[in-house]
Amino acid sequence: WYGAAMIDRERLSDLLARERAAFVATHPRSADAYAAAGSLFGRVPMTWMNKTAGGFPVYAAGARGARVTDVDGHGYVDFCLGDTAAMAGHSPAPVVEAVTARLAAGGGLATMLPTEDAAWVGAELARRFGVPRWSFALTATDANRWAIRLLRAVTGRPRILVNSYCYHGSVDESLIVVGPDGDSVSRPGNVGAPCDVTTTSRVAEYNDLAGLERELAHGDVAAVLMEPALTNIGIVLPSPGYLAGVRELTRRYGSYLVNDETHTFSAGPGGATAAWGLEPDVVTIGKAIGGGVPIGAYGLSAPLADLLSGRDDLDLVDMGGVGGTLAGNPLSVTAARATLEHVLTAPAFDGMTSVATAFANGVQEVIDRFGLPWSVAQLGARVEYRFCDPAPTSGGASAAAADGELEDFLHAYLLNRGVLLTPFHNMALMCPETTLADVATHHELFAAAVTELVG
Ligand code: PMP
Repeated sequence: WYGAAMIDRERLSDLLARERAAFVATHPRSADAYAAAGSLFGRVPMTWMNKTAGGFPVYAAGARGARVTDVDGHGYVDFCLGDTAAMAGHSPAPVVEAVTARLAAGGGLATMLPTEDAAWVGAELARRFGVPRWSFALTATDANRWAIRLLRAVTGRPRILVNSYCYHGSVDESLIVVGPDGDSVSRPGNVGAPCDVTTTSRVAEYNDLAGLERELAHGDVAAVLMEPALTNIGIVLPSPGYLAGVRELTRRYGSYLVNDETHTFSAGPGGATAAWGLEPDVVTIGKAIGGGVPIGAYGLSAPLADLLSGRDDLDLVDMGGVGGTLAGNPLSVTAARATLEHVLTAPAFDGMTSVATAFANGVQEVIDRFGLPWSVAQLGARVEYRFCDPAPTSGGASAAAADGELEDFLHAYLLNRGVLLTPFHNMALMCPETTLADVATHHELFAAAVTELVG
Protein backbone atom coordinates (compact mmCIF):
# COMPACT_ATOMS: atom_id res chain seq x y z
CA TRP A 1 0.00 0.00 0.00
CA TYR A 2 1.16 3.48 -0.73
CA GLY A 3 0.34 6.07 1.90
CA ALA A 4 -3.23 7.19 2.22
CA ALA A 5 -3.84 6.59 -1.49
CA MET A 6 -3.61 2.87 -0.85
CA ILE A 7 -1.81 1.94 -3.99
CA ASP A 8 -1.48 -1.81 -4.10
CA ARG A 9 2.18 -2.45 -5.01
CA GLU A 10 1.40 -5.78 -6.63
CA ARG A 11 -1.23 -4.19 -8.79
CA LEU A 12 1.21 -1.41 -9.65
CA SER A 13 3.89 -3.83 -10.78
CA ASP A 14 1.36 -5.84 -12.84
CA LEU A 15 0.17 -2.64 -14.52
CA LEU A 16 3.73 -1.54 -15.25
CA ALA A 17 4.52 -4.94 -16.78
CA ARG A 18 1.39 -4.68 -18.93
CA GLU A 19 2.34 -1.19 -20.15
CA ARG A 20 5.92 -2.25 -20.91
CA ALA A 21 4.68 -5.23 -22.92
CA ALA A 22 2.32 -2.96 -24.85
CA PHE A 23 5.18 -0.57 -25.53
CA VAL A 24 7.36 -3.37 -26.93
CA ALA A 25 4.50 -4.63 -29.11
CA THR A 26 3.72 -1.24 -30.61
CA HIS A 27 7.27 0.08 -31.14
CA PRO A 28 9.00 -2.57 -33.31
CA ARG A 29 11.11 -0.13 -35.32
CA SER A 30 12.38 1.62 -32.22
CA ALA A 31 13.18 -1.83 -30.78
CA ASP A 32 15.09 -2.77 -33.95
CA ALA A 33 17.00 0.51 -33.99
CA TYR A 34 17.99 0.00 -30.37
CA ALA A 35 19.04 -3.61 -31.01
CA ALA A 36 21.16 -2.46 -33.97
CA ALA A 37 22.97 0.28 -32.00
CA GLY A 38 25.79 -1.91 -30.68
CA SER A 39 28.33 0.70 -31.85
CA LEU A 40 27.09 2.99 -29.11
CA PHE A 41 28.06 2.71 -25.46
CA GLY A 42 24.85 1.57 -23.77
CA ARG A 43 23.21 1.43 -27.26
CA VAL A 44 22.36 5.14 -27.07
CA PRO A 45 24.07 8.38 -28.19
CA MET A 46 24.41 9.37 -24.54
CA THR A 47 23.92 6.97 -21.65
CA TRP A 48 21.15 8.99 -19.98
CA MET A 49 18.89 8.14 -22.93
CA ASN A 50 18.48 4.73 -21.30
CA LYS A 51 16.29 6.41 -18.68
CA THR A 52 12.99 5.48 -20.25
CA ALA A 53 9.83 3.95 -18.83
CA GLY A 54 9.27 1.69 -21.84
CA GLY A 55 12.53 -0.27 -21.52
CA PHE A 56 14.17 1.22 -24.63
CA PRO A 57 13.98 4.71 -26.15
CA VAL A 58 11.41 5.95 -28.63
CA TYR A 59 13.33 6.81 -31.83
CA ALA A 60 12.29 10.23 -33.04
CA ALA A 61 11.35 10.78 -36.67
CA GLY A 62 10.49 14.47 -36.36
CA ALA A 63 9.39 17.21 -34.01
CA ARG A 64 7.49 20.44 -34.58
CA GLY A 65 5.85 22.76 -32.07
CA ALA A 66 4.55 20.68 -29.15
CA ARG A 67 4.47 17.47 -31.22
CA VAL A 68 6.92 14.62 -31.77
CA THR A 69 6.57 11.71 -34.20
CA ASP A 70 8.46 8.44 -33.93
CA VAL A 71 9.81 5.91 -36.42
CA ASP A 72 6.85 3.58 -35.75
CA GLY A 73 4.42 6.24 -36.95
CA HIS A 74 3.10 7.31 -33.54
CA GLY A 75 2.47 10.95 -32.71
CA TYR A 76 2.99 12.44 -29.24
CA VAL A 77 2.03 15.58 -27.39
CA ASP A 78 5.42 16.49 -25.96
CA PHE A 79 5.48 17.95 -22.44
CA CYS A 80 9.16 17.03 -22.07
CA LEU A 81 10.34 19.48 -24.71
CA GLY A 82 13.91 18.25 -24.57
CA ASP A 83 13.92 18.85 -20.81
CA THR A 84 13.68 22.60 -21.57
CA ALA A 85 16.02 22.72 -24.59
CA ALA A 86 12.87 22.94 -26.74
CA MET A 87 10.84 25.29 -24.54
CA ALA A 88 10.52 27.47 -27.65
CA GLY A 89 8.75 24.50 -29.29
CA HIS A 90 10.38 22.06 -31.70
CA SER A 91 11.80 23.47 -34.94
CA PRO A 92 10.50 27.00 -34.24
CA ALA A 93 9.97 28.72 -37.60
CA PRO A 94 11.90 31.96 -36.88
CA VAL A 95 14.92 29.95 -35.70
CA VAL A 96 14.79 27.59 -38.68
CA GLU A 97 14.55 30.58 -41.02
CA ALA A 98 17.36 32.56 -39.41
CA VAL A 99 19.73 29.62 -39.23
CA THR A 100 19.04 28.33 -42.75
CA ALA A 101 19.25 31.85 -44.20
CA ARG A 102 22.63 32.36 -42.59
CA LEU A 103 23.93 29.03 -43.84
CA ALA A 104 22.45 29.45 -47.32
CA ALA A 105 24.21 32.80 -47.59
CA GLY A 106 27.52 31.10 -46.79
CA GLY A 107 27.55 32.44 -43.24
CA GLY A 108 30.13 29.93 -42.02
CA LEU A 109 29.90 27.95 -38.82
CA ALA A 110 33.36 27.87 -37.33
CA THR A 111 35.36 30.92 -38.30
CA MET A 112 36.60 31.77 -34.80
CA LEU A 113 35.44 35.32 -35.55
CA PRO A 114 32.64 37.18 -33.75
CA THR A 115 29.35 37.89 -35.46
CA GLU A 116 27.15 40.88 -34.73
CA ASP A 117 24.29 38.75 -33.40
CA ALA A 118 26.30 37.91 -30.26
CA ALA A 119 26.20 41.49 -28.95
CA TRP A 120 22.47 41.68 -29.69
CA VAL A 121 21.92 38.51 -27.64
CA GLY A 122 24.17 39.81 -24.85
CA ALA A 123 22.21 43.06 -24.69
CA GLU A 124 18.90 41.22 -24.66
CA LEU A 125 20.02 38.84 -21.89
CA ALA A 126 21.29 41.86 -19.94
CA ARG A 127 17.90 43.57 -20.33
CA ARG A 128 16.05 40.47 -19.22
CA PHE A 129 18.25 39.23 -16.36
CA GLY A 130 19.75 42.50 -15.10
CA VAL A 131 23.45 41.52 -15.30
CA PRO A 132 25.27 43.43 -18.04
CA ARG A 133 28.37 41.49 -19.26
CA TRP A 134 27.74 38.23 -21.11
CA SER A 135 29.88 35.43 -22.45
CA PHE A 136 28.93 32.25 -24.31
CA ALA A 137 29.43 28.52 -24.00
CA LEU A 138 27.82 25.56 -25.74
CA THR A 139 26.09 24.04 -22.71
CA ALA A 140 24.77 25.28 -19.41
CA THR A 141 27.22 22.90 -17.74
CA ASP A 142 30.13 24.80 -19.25
CA ALA A 143 28.57 28.16 -18.40
CA ASN A 144 28.49 26.99 -14.77
CA ARG A 145 32.03 25.59 -14.91
CA TRP A 146 33.46 28.82 -16.26
CA ALA A 147 31.49 30.98 -13.84
CA ILE A 148 32.89 28.87 -11.01
CA ARG A 149 36.47 29.33 -12.23
CA LEU A 150 36.03 33.09 -12.53
CA LEU A 151 34.57 33.35 -9.04
CA ARG A 152 37.33 31.26 -7.49
CA ALA A 153 39.79 33.55 -9.25
CA VAL A 154 38.33 36.82 -7.96
CA THR A 155 37.77 35.64 -4.40
CA GLY A 156 40.81 33.40 -3.94
CA ARG A 157 38.42 31.09 -2.10
CA PRO A 158 38.41 27.37 -2.89
CA ARG A 159 34.83 26.19 -2.38
CA ILE A 160 31.47 26.32 -4.11
CA LEU A 161 28.24 25.89 -2.18
CA VAL A 162 25.22 24.20 -3.74
CA ASN A 163 21.84 22.95 -2.56
CA SER A 164 21.36 19.29 -1.76
CA TYR A 165 19.93 17.35 -4.75
CA CYS A 166 20.51 20.27 -7.08
CA TYR A 167 21.47 19.69 -10.68
CA HIS A 168 23.70 22.09 -12.59
CA GLY A 169 24.95 19.69 -15.27
CA SER A 170 27.99 17.47 -14.83
CA VAL A 171 29.80 20.06 -12.72
CA ASP A 172 32.16 18.25 -10.33
CA GLU A 173 31.62 20.71 -7.49
CA SER A 174 27.84 20.22 -7.52
CA LEU A 175 27.75 16.45 -6.91
CA ILE A 176 27.37 16.73 -3.15
CA VAL A 177 24.36 16.14 -0.90
CA VAL A 178 23.42 16.41 2.74
CA GLY A 179 23.80 12.85 4.01
CA PRO A 180 21.50 10.96 6.37
CA ASP A 181 23.36 12.25 9.45
CA GLY A 182 23.33 15.84 8.23
CA ASP A 183 26.94 15.74 7.08
CA SER A 184 28.14 16.55 3.54
CA VAL A 185 28.73 13.52 1.33
CA SER A 186 29.35 12.73 -2.32
CA ARG A 187 26.15 12.30 -4.29
CA PRO A 188 25.44 8.56 -4.62
CA GLY A 189 26.65 7.22 -7.98
CA ASN A 190 29.04 10.15 -8.67
CA VAL A 191 31.16 8.86 -11.57
CA GLY A 192 34.95 9.23 -11.31
CA ALA A 193 35.16 12.26 -9.05
CA PRO A 194 38.55 13.99 -9.52
CA CYS A 195 38.85 14.37 -5.74
CA ASP A 196 36.72 14.16 -2.61
CA VAL A 197 33.88 16.59 -3.35
CA THR A 198 33.76 17.69 0.29
CA THR A 199 37.15 19.37 -0.28
CA THR A 200 35.83 21.53 -3.14
CA SER A 201 32.25 22.10 -2.09
CA ARG A 202 29.81 22.84 0.66
CA VAL A 203 26.15 21.95 0.66
CA ALA A 204 22.97 23.16 2.36
CA GLU A 205 19.36 22.11 1.97
CA TYR A 206 17.26 24.48 -0.12
CA ASN A 207 15.07 26.71 2.10
CA ASP A 208 17.45 26.20 5.07
CA LEU A 209 18.98 29.58 5.89
CA ALA A 210 20.49 28.38 9.17
CA GLY A 211 22.28 25.56 7.33
CA LEU A 212 23.46 27.98 4.67
CA GLU A 213 24.83 30.40 7.25
CA ARG A 214 26.62 27.61 9.10
CA GLU A 215 28.45 26.64 5.89
CA LEU A 216 29.18 30.20 4.69
CA ALA A 217 30.59 31.11 8.09
CA HIS A 218 33.69 29.02 7.30
CA GLY A 219 34.67 31.95 5.06
CA ASP A 220 35.96 29.74 2.24
CA VAL A 221 32.99 29.79 -0.17
CA ALA A 222 33.71 31.64 -3.41
CA ALA A 223 30.14 31.36 -4.63
CA VAL A 224 26.72 29.93 -3.97
CA LEU A 225 25.52 28.27 -7.18
CA MET A 226 21.80 27.71 -7.07
CA GLU A 227 18.57 27.52 -9.00
CA PRO A 228 16.15 30.14 -7.59
CA ALA A 229 13.72 27.20 -7.32
CA LEU A 230 14.93 23.61 -7.51
CA THR A 231 13.69 22.00 -10.72
CA ASN A 232 15.63 18.79 -11.03
CA ILE A 233 14.25 16.94 -8.00
CA GLY A 234 10.70 17.94 -8.69
CA ILE A 235 9.98 21.64 -8.38
CA VAL A 236 10.81 22.96 -4.92
CA LEU A 237 9.65 26.54 -4.50
CA PRO A 238 11.18 29.12 -2.15
CA SER A 239 9.60 29.73 1.24
CA PRO A 240 8.77 33.38 1.95
CA GLY A 241 11.96 35.31 2.70
CA TYR A 242 14.32 32.49 1.72
CA LEU A 243 15.82 34.04 -1.41
CA ALA A 244 16.20 37.44 0.25
CA GLY A 245 17.93 35.62 3.11
CA VAL A 246 20.32 33.89 0.69
CA ARG A 247 21.25 37.24 -0.83
CA GLU A 248 21.77 38.83 2.54
CA LEU A 249 23.93 35.96 3.83
CA THR A 250 26.06 35.73 0.68
CA ARG A 251 26.77 39.46 0.94
CA ARG A 252 27.52 39.22 4.65
CA TYR A 253 30.02 36.38 4.19
CA GLY A 254 31.64 37.70 1.01
CA SER A 255 30.41 34.94 -1.32
CA TYR A 256 29.14 35.65 -4.81
CA LEU A 257 25.66 34.47 -5.81
CA VAL A 258 25.07 32.64 -9.09
CA ASN A 259 21.52 32.05 -10.29
CA ASP A 260 21.40 29.11 -12.66
CA GLU A 261 18.34 30.01 -14.77
CA THR A 262 18.61 27.12 -17.22
CA HIS A 263 15.26 25.69 -16.09
CA THR A 264 13.80 28.51 -13.97
CA PHE A 265 13.73 30.55 -17.18
CA SER A 266 10.22 29.04 -17.34
CA ALA A 267 9.18 31.64 -14.72
CA GLY A 268 9.14 34.43 -17.32
CA PRO A 269 11.12 36.30 -20.00
CA GLY A 270 13.83 37.17 -17.44
CA GLY A 271 13.53 33.92 -15.51
CA ALA A 272 12.96 33.83 -11.77
CA THR A 273 15.60 36.55 -11.42
CA ALA A 274 13.32 39.14 -13.02
CA ALA A 275 10.01 37.58 -11.94
CA TRP A 276 11.01 37.66 -8.27
CA GLY A 277 13.26 40.76 -8.32
CA LEU A 278 16.45 38.86 -7.42
CA GLU A 279 19.93 40.43 -7.49
CA PRO A 280 22.49 37.75 -8.35
CA ASP A 281 26.09 38.61 -9.23
CA VAL A 282 26.09 36.06 -12.03
CA VAL A 283 23.36 34.42 -14.12
CA THR A 284 24.01 31.20 -16.00
CA ILE A 285 21.68 29.76 -18.61
CA GLY A 286 21.57 27.44 -21.61
CA LYS A 287 19.23 25.13 -23.46
CA ALA A 288 16.04 27.07 -24.30
CA ILE A 289 17.66 30.34 -25.38
CA GLY A 290 19.08 28.56 -28.45
CA GLY A 291 15.66 27.35 -29.60
CA GLY A 292 17.12 23.83 -29.71
CA VAL A 293 20.57 24.77 -31.03
CA PRO A 294 23.35 24.13 -28.47
CA ILE A 295 24.24 27.18 -26.40
CA GLY A 296 25.18 28.23 -22.90
CA ALA A 297 25.77 31.70 -21.52
CA TYR A 298 26.79 33.46 -18.35
CA GLY A 299 26.28 37.08 -17.40
CA LEU A 300 28.39 38.99 -14.89
CA SER A 301 27.61 42.08 -12.83
CA ALA A 302 29.59 45.17 -13.87
CA PRO A 303 31.77 45.31 -10.73
CA LEU A 304 32.62 41.64 -11.10
CA ALA A 305 33.44 41.98 -14.80
CA ASP A 306 35.65 45.01 -13.99
CA LEU A 307 37.48 43.14 -11.24
CA LEU A 308 38.20 40.27 -13.60
CA SER A 309 39.29 42.50 -16.47
CA GLY A 310 41.71 44.27 -14.14
CA ARG A 311 43.53 41.08 -13.23
CA ASP A 312 46.70 40.79 -15.35
CA ASP A 313 47.57 37.46 -13.78
CA LEU A 314 44.50 35.71 -15.23
CA ASP A 315 44.78 34.21 -18.69
CA LEU A 316 41.27 34.88 -19.93
CA VAL A 317 42.37 34.83 -23.55
CA ASP A 318 44.32 31.67 -24.18
CA MET A 319 44.65 28.51 -22.10
CA GLY A 320 43.65 29.72 -18.65
CA GLY A 321 40.75 27.29 -18.33
CA VAL A 322 37.82 29.40 -19.50
CA GLY A 323 36.80 28.91 -23.09
CA GLY A 324 35.90 26.57 -25.91
CA THR A 325 36.61 26.67 -29.64
CA LEU A 326 32.95 26.68 -30.67
CA ALA A 327 31.62 28.93 -27.90
CA GLY A 328 29.75 31.90 -29.36
CA ASN A 329 29.68 30.33 -32.82
CA PRO A 330 27.43 31.93 -35.45
CA LEU A 331 24.90 29.09 -35.40
CA SER A 332 24.32 29.37 -31.64
CA VAL A 333 24.02 33.13 -31.51
CA THR A 334 21.89 33.42 -34.66
CA ALA A 335 19.53 30.85 -33.16
CA ALA A 336 19.51 32.63 -29.80
CA ARG A 337 18.74 35.96 -31.39
CA ALA A 338 15.80 34.50 -33.34
CA THR A 339 14.52 32.68 -30.24
CA LEU A 340 14.65 35.72 -27.98
CA GLU A 341 13.47 38.23 -30.57
CA HIS A 342 10.60 36.23 -32.07
CA VAL A 343 9.71 33.14 -30.03
CA LEU A 344 10.26 33.30 -26.26
CA THR A 345 8.88 36.81 -25.96
CA ALA A 346 6.95 38.31 -23.04
CA PRO A 347 3.54 37.65 -24.68
CA ALA A 348 4.62 34.06 -25.40
CA PHE A 349 5.43 33.57 -21.71
CA ASP A 350 1.99 34.91 -20.75
CA GLY A 351 0.34 32.30 -22.96
CA MET A 352 2.59 29.44 -21.84
CA THR A 353 2.04 30.31 -18.18
CA SER A 354 -1.72 30.36 -18.51
CA VAL A 355 -1.70 26.96 -20.24
CA ALA A 356 0.58 25.69 -17.45
CA THR A 357 -1.87 26.99 -14.86
CA ALA A 358 -4.60 24.93 -16.54
CA PHE A 359 -2.25 21.94 -16.43
CA ALA A 360 -1.59 22.41 -12.70
CA ASN A 361 -5.27 22.96 -11.88
CA GLY A 362 -6.35 19.86 -13.78
CA VAL A 363 -3.77 17.66 -12.07
CA GLN A 364 -4.83 19.04 -8.69
CA GLU A 365 -8.45 18.25 -9.54
CA VAL A 366 -7.57 14.59 -10.22
CA ILE A 367 -5.49 14.42 -7.02
CA ASP A 368 -8.45 15.80 -5.04
CA ARG A 369 -10.98 13.54 -6.76
CA PHE A 370 -9.04 10.41 -5.79
CA GLY A 371 -7.83 11.72 -2.41
CA LEU A 372 -4.20 11.10 -3.37
CA PRO A 373 -1.46 12.32 -1.02
CA TRP A 374 0.28 14.00 -3.96
CA SER A 375 1.04 17.66 -4.73
CA VAL A 376 1.54 19.93 -7.73
CA ALA A 377 3.96 22.82 -8.13
CA GLN A 378 4.11 25.38 -10.93
CA LEU A 379 6.91 27.66 -12.02
CA GLY A 380 5.57 29.77 -14.86
CA ALA A 381 5.43 27.49 -17.91
CA ARG A 382 6.58 24.42 -15.94
CA VAL A 383 4.49 22.09 -13.78
CA GLU A 384 5.47 19.06 -11.74
CA TYR A 385 3.64 16.58 -9.56
CA ARG A 386 5.22 14.74 -6.66
CA PHE A 387 4.06 11.72 -4.71
CA CYS A 388 3.82 13.52 -1.40
CA ASP A 389 1.66 16.19 0.19
CA PRO A 390 2.35 18.90 1.19
CA ALA A 391 4.88 19.68 -1.52
CA PRO A 392 8.47 19.13 -0.33
CA THR A 393 10.41 22.20 0.76
CA SER A 394 13.93 20.84 0.27
CA GLY A 395 15.82 18.68 -2.21
CA GLY A 396 16.41 16.02 0.42
CA ALA A 397 12.70 15.78 1.25
CA SER A 398 11.79 15.68 -2.42
CA ALA A 399 14.35 12.93 -3.11
CA ALA A 400 12.88 10.92 -0.23
CA ALA A 401 9.41 11.13 -1.83
CA ALA A 402 10.55 9.51 -5.08
CA ASP A 403 8.73 6.38 -6.23
CA GLY A 404 10.45 5.03 -9.33
CA GLU A 405 7.94 2.29 -10.07
CA LEU A 406 4.93 4.56 -9.79
CA GLU A 407 6.65 7.15 -11.95
CA ASP A 408 7.54 4.54 -14.58
CA PHE A 409 3.96 3.30 -14.67
CA LEU A 410 2.52 6.78 -15.22
CA HIS A 411 5.15 7.61 -17.84
CA ALA A 412 4.67 4.32 -19.70
CA TYR A 413 0.88 4.65 -19.55
CA LEU A 414 1.03 8.15 -21.02
CA LEU A 415 3.72 7.18 -23.56
CA ASN A 416 1.59 4.32 -24.90
CA ARG A 417 -1.27 6.75 -25.41
CA GLY A 418 0.67 9.55 -27.04
CA VAL A 419 1.87 11.85 -24.25
CA LEU A 420 5.52 12.43 -23.30
CA LEU A 421 6.65 13.62 -19.87
CA THR A 422 10.27 14.37 -18.91
CA PRO A 423 11.88 10.99 -18.19
CA PHE A 424 13.60 11.92 -14.95
CA HIS A 425 10.54 13.18 -13.08
CA ASN A 426 6.91 14.19 -13.55
CA MET A 427 7.63 17.47 -15.27
CA ALA A 428 5.42 19.01 -17.90
CA LEU A 429 6.62 22.08 -19.78
CA MET A 430 4.53 24.27 -22.08
CA CYS A 431 5.91 25.80 -25.28
CA PRO A 432 4.17 28.60 -27.20
CA GLU A 433 2.28 25.99 -29.29
CA THR A 434 1.04 23.83 -26.40
CA THR A 435 -2.76 24.06 -26.32
CA LEU A 436 -5.45 23.63 -23.71
CA ALA A 437 -6.60 20.61 -25.74
CA ASP A 438 -3.13 19.06 -25.25
CA VAL A 439 -3.48 19.68 -21.53
CA ALA A 440 -6.95 18.09 -21.52
CA THR A 441 -5.52 15.03 -23.29
CA HIS A 442 -2.97 14.63 -20.52
CA HIS A 443 -5.59 14.98 -17.79
CA GLU A 444 -7.92 12.42 -19.31
CA LEU A 445 -5.10 9.88 -19.47
CA PHE A 446 -3.73 10.81 -16.05
CA ALA A 447 -7.16 10.25 -14.50
CA ALA A 448 -7.54 6.95 -16.36
CA ALA A 449 -4.14 5.75 -15.12
CA VAL A 450 -4.98 6.71 -11.56
CA THR A 451 -8.35 4.92 -11.87
CA GLU A 452 -6.58 1.74 -12.85
CA LEU A 453 -4.23 2.13 -9.91
CA VAL A 454 -6.60 2.99 -7.10
CA GLY A 455 -9.90 2.04 -8.69
N1 PMP B 1 21.68 23.74 -15.03
C1 PMP B 1 20.46 23.26 -14.80
C2 PMP B 1 19.59 23.93 -13.79
C3 PMP B 1 20.00 22.14 -15.51
O1 PMP B 1 18.80 21.65 -15.25
C4 PMP B 1 20.85 21.55 -16.45
C5 PMP B 1 20.44 20.33 -17.25
N2 PMP B 1 19.27 19.72 -16.93
C6 PMP B 1 22.10 22.10 -16.65
C7 PMP B 1 22.50 23.21 -15.93
C8 PMP B 1 23.06 21.52 -17.66
O2 PMP B 1 22.64 21.75 -18.93
P1 PMP B 1 23.40 21.06 -20.13
O3 PMP B 1 23.07 19.60 -20.03
O4 PMP B 1 22.85 21.70 -21.34
O5 PMP B 1 24.83 21.32 -19.95
